[in-house]
Amino acid sequence: MTGKRYVYLFHEGNAEMKELLGGKGANLAEMTRASLPVPFGFTISTEACNDYYAEGERISGPVLEQINTALNELEKQTGKKLGDINNPLLVSVRSGSVFSMPGMMDTVLNLGLNDETVAGLAALTGNERFAYDSYRRFIQMFSDVVLGVDHYHFEDILDKKKHDAGYTHDPELAADDWKEVIAAYKALVLKHTKEPFPQDPKDQLAKSIEAVFRSWNNQRAIVYRRIHKIPDHLGTAVNIQMMVFGNMGEDSGTGVAFTRNPSTGERKLYGEYLINAQGEDVVAGIRTPQPIATLADAMPEVYAQFTAICERLENHYRDLQDIEFTVERGKLYILQTRNGKRTAQAAVKAAVDMVKEGIISREEAILRIDPEQLDQLLHRSIDPNVKLDVLARGLPASPGAATGQTVFDADEAEKLAAKGIKVLLMRPETTPEDIHGIVASEGIITSRGGMTSHAAVVARGMGKACICGCEALKIDVKNKTFEVDGKTYPEGSVLSIDGAKGTMMLGEVPLIDPVLSDEFIELLSWADEARELGVRANADNPEDASVARGFGAEGIGLCRTEHMFMDLARIPVVQEMILAETTQDRLAALDKLLPVQQKDFEGILEEMAGLPVTIRLLDPPLHEFLPSVEELLVEVTKMQQDAHADKRALYEKESLLRKVRRLYEFNPMLGHRGCRLGMIYPEIYEMQVQAIIQACTVLQERGISVQPEIMIPLVGHVNELKEMRSLVHRVASACMGKSGTQVQYTIGTMIEVPRAALTADEIAQEADFFSFGTNDLTQTTFGYSRDDAEGKFLHAYVDRKVLPENPFIVLDQDGVGKLVQMGVKLGRMTKPELKTGICGEHGGEKHSIDFCYRTGLDYVSCSPYRVPLARLAAAQATIKHTNKVPV
Ligand code: PEP
Ligand code: MG
Repeated sequence: MTGKRYVYLFHEGNAEMKELLGGKGANLAEMTRASLPVPFGFTISTEACNDYYAEGERISGPVLEQINTALNELEKQTGKKLGDINNPLLVSVRSGSVFSMPGMMDTVLNLGLNDETVAGLAALTGNERFAYDSYRRFIQMFSDVVLGVDHYHFEDILDKKKHDAGYTHDPELAADDWKEVIAAYKALVLKHTKEPFPQDPKDQLAKSIEAVFRSWNNQRAIVYRRIHKIPDHLGTAVNIQMMVFGNMGEDSGTGVAFTRNPSTGERKLYGEYLINAQGEDVVAGIRTPQPIATLADAMPEVYAQFTAICERLENHYRDLQDIEFTVERGKLYILQTRNGKRTAQAAVKAAVDMVKEGIISREEAILRIDPEQLDQLLHRSIDPNVKLDVLARGLPASPGAATGQTVFDADEAEKLAAKGIKVLLMRPETTPEDIHGIVASEGIITSRGGMTSHAAVVARGMGKACICGCEALKIDVKNKTFEVDGKTYPEGSVLSIDGAKGTMMLGEVPLIDPVLSDEFIELLSWADEARELGVRANADNPEDASVARGFGAEGIGLCRTEHMFMDLARIPVVQEMILAETTQDRLAALDKLLPVQQKDFEGILEEMAGLPVTIRLLDPPLHEFLPSVEELLVEVTKMQQDAHADKRALYEKESLLRKVRRLYEFNPMLGHRGCRLGMIYPEIYEMQVQAIIQACTVLQERGISVQPEIMIPLVGHVNELKEMRSLVHRVASACMGKSGTQVQYTIGTMIEVPRAALTADEIAQEADFFSFGTNDLTQTTFGYSRDDAEGKFLHAYVDRKVLPENPFIVLDQDGVGKLVQMGVKLGRMTKPELKTGICGEHGGEKHSIDFCYRTGLDYVSCSPYRVPLARLAAAQATIKHTNKVPV
């Protein structure tokens, strides 16, 4: 063959060809190679999809030619022919992108049926009812996906037919009933498209392939890619595969199974099936299926064969598999296998268990877990000791606790969530169209569908609580109500769900803090062995410090002292200090703050006994501690207009207003803050240093070891640090002189304005350590004020891909990162032993942590709940970059 290759028969591909064949195509190829019972087929590559778009949404000649050649081969393999009246080949046409996008793109099943082949199929199978049911399914699906005739028009026809005939379920329809339905379907298509339903199977095939290509760019696929950061240029492959039928009678069926429980990770086959049904019946969640274990009774031989294949597949792919299968008249076919989506709990347990079972290495286990997913394990859950009034029970489809107002529609869920209202999305079942509502909701409840229904799979992937198949619920989407036990509840009713138990309660329920599983602790201990980066926490009170230590923090990388000033009981004294007219008055107020500040430091340093604690001296502009001008202006005006107002009180308010106005800043982010405060009001920093040293003295005298690191914020010029350093030394020496106790401390600075990074060699002369404050460094490098940027334009920038990510969340390595690299390099040129860390929010983000590792920082510091994530991400960085295992 000359020219580019676009089409591959299954036996010609393999697992490595994922980019070309898509995940599904590569797997079908791999399974075919492993001699598993996979129905024959071929894959049209993702490059053909891109070619389709490049050609102006047209399948080009060479691609079409290769499809025809592959089709001829498929006909040879199966001994059937597309459109052959006596022995028709029927195929499925499925999308398959490089990364799994479940349910987001289109599929056509039963292709090849027409008015003539349907009769052939009936004769061949001796099952006329089955043949005509398949044909009507095909018309419905093809019309919806390819011709754009909405699915519900067909449902209306079917509902009317059932109603007229007095039937309640589809299986009650006989062959003749289906023939009538088909006639009505065809009339519907003619009316909508002005053309008869296409009868030429080759034409059907070409149109379906195009529709699958087009579905790469449907709205829900675009949204899904944005959420999961899948690049738009990848395109989808199309898999054409011989149909096998799970709806050929009681000896047929179809199902989905996971090799381990995707909610808990337990090593036990987990899944469900439906007898006499087709694949989409299970996934769509319209009938509630049977648990897989009961297949052992229903079809013992098939079950034994299936369990053996599951084990083989898991060992082959060395990961938890999600397997789709069909049984056609007693013969088992494997339709697909892929790495199963799972909750964080399951991911951790399965990875740790697989290490113990000798399937994977520790390093691989560490790399298997997405650090972001760990967040789910650190969520609060429902207190097991509280007796709950369970309103209804469903299947425990995705663990976690969630409370919110019920909504019945995805758009409404999105609307309310945007206003900050917590919602639970309640639907009979969900479809890929509901994806934005699922994203916006705290949890999902469905009345139909099983553990592998759309809602369940998507919720588990997103780490959201979900209960499915809650059949006691009667949901009336139109009237926005639901009914349980004869009682009706309106939209907006507050419910709580426990996705691990499948229970639903009225109102809010008490929650408890997370308990880390043994497997989780073990995995993190492996991560600690592997990683080189230190992990600290940002904490500014003893409670947070304790949580952080519990999660494995090796110290505090940032203790922001301003939060202590914000305490309601202290704010009057802080205000007194700020508003003081003379230094003497200010010192008097600071004297009152000193003992409380000292207690704060004692608490934190004691929690972190033996570990370093970086304490940052006051950073924010002083007016943040005062009432706003607007607020005061209203009060003053009211008092001025009130004839009975106390003159003295009015005078005081007016003078307060004047002082607040004096402190007003045009641009506080770039104003009088950080070390600029210490430069102008040294007494504030002096009090803080005194509090730190005295706290250390008290603790040391109690035998507690302390490692204070005093940090000066927002330094931009070495002279600022020089002056502040001598202030610290002077106060510390005085304190130690008084107490007679020596305290070991270091002095460092934050690097959070570009000039500090650019002159880091000079600044390092005065610093024992650098801590990169990448929040401010991002603001000052981009020239964005975070609040304004995030509120006004950053979303549009990210949506339009002007910026790849929000740089306040994921470190901008090319710009801000360059300054960090320069800061480290220049700093170490002056002082090779200079300690370096990061304490901006990026310190808890996996990509930024990887960058910190590559830049040679000593540690990252992040919020306490992100410490486990950071430990894992730090280990992944070492493993990836030292190539301990192939990745
Ligand atoms: C920073 O700027 O990165 C930082 C940690 O300081 P803050 O967020 O308190 O300004
Ligand atoms: Mg800062």
